[in-house]
Amino acid sequence: MLDEVRKGVEQHGDYVDFFAADAPASGAFRCSGCGYGVTVKTSLPHCPMCGGTTWAQAASQPQHASPGS
Ligand SMILES: [Zn+2]
Repeated sequence: MLDEVRKGVEQHGDYVDFFAADAPASGAFRCSGCGYGVTVKTSLPHCPMCGGTTWAQAASQPQHASPGS
């Protein structure tokens, strides 16, 4: 007999900022609905793929330093 306690899955592991369409923003974002990526300089659009209006900020600049010179 299984006595497994299933805990609710919490998604606090990776904190992600979400932005709504038409919000002023700049940088790389990814649609929270379909994952479509955009890079904006002024404000966020409606997703051209799924029409979504929620965007998650994407990492646009790798933190890895280039080896060598
Ligand atoms: Zn989308």
